[in-house]
Amino acid sequence: MSKDSSDLFGALFEAAPAKAVMTRTVPVLVPMPAPKPYSYAVPEGMAVEPGSVVQVPLGPRQVIGVVWDGGDEGGVDPKKLRPISRVFDCPPLAKEMRDFIDWVAAYTLSPPGLVARMALRVPAAFDPEPMVEGLRFAGGTPERLTPARVRVMEMAKDGLSWTRSGLAHAAGVSTSVIDGLITQGVFETVFLPPPPLVAKPDPDYAASRLEGPQREAADEILTEVRKQEFSVSLIDGVTGSGKTEVYFEAIAETLKRGKQVLILLPEIALTASFLERFQDRFGAKPAEWHSDLAPRTREKVWRQAVTGEVRVVAGARSALFLPFEDLGLIIVDEEHDPAYKQEDRVYYNARDMAVVRGRVADFPVVLVSATPSVESQVNGQSGRYSTIHLPTRFGDAAMPDLHLVDMRRHAPERGGFLSPLLIRAIGKTVEKGQQSLLFLNRRGYAPLTLCRVCGHRFQCPQCSSWLVEHRFRGQLQCHQCGYAERTPEACPECGTFDHLVACGPGVERIAEEVERHFPDARTIVLSSDIMGGVKRLRLELEAIAKGEADIVIGTQLVAKGHNFPLMTLVGIIDADLGLANGDPRAAERTFQLLSQVTGRAGRTGLKSHGLLQTYQPQHPVMQAIVSGDASAFYEREITERERAVLPPFGRLASIIVSAETRQDAETHARGMRSAAPQVQGISVLGPAEAPLALVRGRHRFRLLVHGKRNSDMQGFLRAMLAQAPKERGSVHVQLDIDPQSFL
Ligand code: ADP
Ligand code: ZN
Repeated sequence: MSKDSSDLFGALFEAAPAKAVMTRTVPVLVPMPAPKPYSYAVPEGMAVEPGSVVQVPLGPRQVIGVVWDGGDEGGVDPKKLRPISRVFDCPPLAKEMRDFIDWVAAYTLSPPGLVARMALRVPAAFDPEPMVEGLRFAGGTPERLTPARVRVMEMAKDGLSWTRSGLAHAAGVSTSVIDGLITQGVFETVFLPPPPLVAKPDPDYAASRLEGPQREAADEILTEVRKQEFSVSLIDGVTGSGKTEVYFEAIAETLKRGKQVLILLPEIALTASFLERFQDRFGAKPAEWHSDLAPRTREKVWRQAVTGEVRVVAGARSALFLPFEDLGLIIVDEEHDPAYKQEDRVYYNARDMAVVRGRVADFPVVLVSATPSVESQVNGQSGRYSTIHLPTRFGDAAMPDLHLVDMRRHAPERGGFLSPLLIRAIGKTVEKGQQSLLFLNRRGYAPLTLCRVCGHRFQCPQCSSWLVEHRFRGQLQCHQCGYAERTPEACPECGTFDHLVACGPGVERIAEEVERHFPDARTIVLSSDIMGGVKRLRLELEAIAKGEADIVIGTQLVAKGHNFPLMTLVGIIDADLGLANGDPRAAERTFQLLSQVTGRAGRTGLKSHGLLQTYQPQHPVMQAIVSGDASAFYEREITERERAVLPPFGRLASIIVSAETRQDAETHARGMRSAAPQVQGISVLGPAEAPLALVRGRHRFRLLVHGKRNSDMQGFLRAMLAQAPKERGSVHVQLDIDPQSFL
C-alpha cells in the first residue's frame, strides 16, 4: 500500500551531527504512508514527550511529525539515528487523540502517518500566534490639545492597552490622530496576545424554554451528558421538530462543565443560518472548520482548539481530526448524510469515527436525524444507542401534504419534464406570493448529448461517464474528473451540423421550462456550479429566505438544513432518480433525500404541499413518503438487510484496484483474489470491472469482501494483503471498509 515508504527508510540510518550528544531515541510518526513510526534521536537538552509536535529530517527534506507512544525496540544506538530538528511550542497531542489516530488507522487499514496527517494539516499553526503591537497611555500631555486628541486621551487614560486602530475607532478619530500622539511620546508600545477568533459562548445567554416532548428529549440527553462518560444518543425527529433546540441543551451543559464541543454538519459552508442561530442562543458564533476557510483562519481555529481558547467548533467531517484540548461532546447532525464518508486516501465515515472518538476519550456522542440511517436505527433497537423521538413539528407548523404524480397518467408536454399538475400547483403558489422549490439532483442542462444522425454519444476521454451539457457556460463537462470542452456545433463523428440533441433534464433545463410557463416569476437555479462559489451561494440562500425568489430550482444543496419561511410547495422532478443504481442503500438514500427535500416546505404556519413525480407510484419508498409511515419502511429495509446479511447485520469491504492499463488492473485484482485466505464466514466476490470502469484515465476493478457480523474483516484483509502481489508500476490498491459507493 505504501509506495514511497521503502525508499524513505534508507535515509534514516545516517550518523547524527557529531557535536550534539544523543541520549535516547523516540518513535516519531511522520505524515507519510509509512506503516509505523520511525525512530529518531533526542539531542541532549531537548524536552519531548509522546504527543509533541516536532520537525524531523526525512531523506533530503524536513517534515512535521508527532512523537508517538511506545518505547523504541531497543538495540539501536541513538548515535546512529538522525536527531529531531526542533520541538514546536505547541501543546502535545493528547493520549486520547493518539489512541484515536491509531484506532482509525487500524480500522480503515490506512498507514497511521496518513491519519495523523489529517490532524496536522496546518503547519503554520504549530508555533504560537505572534503577539500584536499595541499602545498604552504613558502619561504626559502633547504640545497642542485638539478636541480629537482630548477624546483619545480620555479613552486611554485608565491605562488599558489598545490596538492603534481599536483606539482610533473607540475615540471616533482617524488613525493619524493616534500617530500624532505617538510621536509626542504620549503612548508606549506594548505587546498584546492575539485576540481570540471567536468570543466564548455563554451557556446561559438565551436559554430556551422547552416544554412537552422537547423537554423530555432534552432531559434524556442531559442525563447522558451529565454522566460524562461514553454513550451514544440518537435524536430521531421530523424536520422542524426542534432537534437543534434539544441538542443546544446538551452543548450548554457540556460548556458549563468546562469541556469543548464539536458539532459536525454536512455542507457546513452553506449553513450560515446555523451559525447565526447558535449565536442567538449562546451569544457568540462557534468557530467554523471546512475546506473553504482562508488558510490564516484555519490555522487560528486549529491553534485555538488545541490551546482551548475555542470552545465550540462547527465543522465538516475533517473537523473530527482537530486535536482539541479537552473535548467533551460530539454532535453529528444529519447523521445519515453520505457527505460524512470520505473517499480519498483514508476512506472513513466521520459519523462512525465520531462514535469511536467518544469511546476512546470516554465522552457522550449525539447523533441527530429526521431519517436516521438503518445502521443507527438498528443500534437503537438493540439498545446500544438510546433513541429519543420527536414525532411532531414545533409550534403551529405542520408537515406538508404529500402526493404522488403518476407520470404515466399525467405526462408532461413534448420536450418537457413538468406534469400539468405540478405546473398548476406552481401557478397557484406564485399567485399567493409564496415560494416553490423544484428539486432535481442533476447539475447542468442535460446529462447526455447525442447526434441524431449517427447516434454518437459524447463521453469523457478519460472516464467512463457521459459529458454533461452546461448550456449557460456553453460547455460539455465530465462530473467525474472535471474535464470540459466547448459544446460543438457539429458532430465530431459524422460532421453533421445542428443535429445534436440533449437527452434528459438537469436543473438548467428545468429552469428553461419554468421560465416558459412563468415568464414573470423570479426564478433562480441553485447548484454547486454557481459562479462565485460558497460566498455567493450563502447570499443567494439568504435572499431566498427573505422571499426574494418565487421559484427555486435546485440540486441537493438546497435540501440541507435551510429554513425558507415562505416555501409552501416542493416539487420533486424525478423521484425515481436514485432508485436505478444497484446500490444496496438505494431505497434508504432515496427515502432520506426525498424526506429531507419535502421537509423544506411549511416550516412556518402556512399550509404546504409536496408533489413527487414518479413512474413507480407503488414503490415502497414512494408509499412510505406519502403515507408518512417511516417506521413501516424502515422495518422492511431492516428485514431485507438482515436476510441478505448486509450492514449492519454483516460486514462489507471494497478493494478497488486501478492501473493505467486494463490488463494491469485486472491481473493485479486476480492476484489479490488468489491471495485471499480461507476463513469461515468471509467470502470474496469478484474481481469485476467497476461500473465506473475508467476514471481520470485509470482502469478500475473491484473486489467485494463480505463477512458475517462478527467476522474479523481487518484480520482477513491484512492476511490477504500480506500474501498478495506487491503493487508495481501504475497499480494502486485502495481499501474501503464499510463502503457507501459501489461504482
Ligand atoms: P429541527 O432541527 O428538528 O429541524 P429546529 O430545531 O430547527 O428543528 O426547529 C424548527 C423551528 O422551530 C426553528 O425555527 C426553531 O427556532 C423553532 N423552535 C423549535 N423549538 C423551539 C422552542 N422550544 N422555542 C422556540 N422556538 C422553537
Ligand atoms: Zn472525466
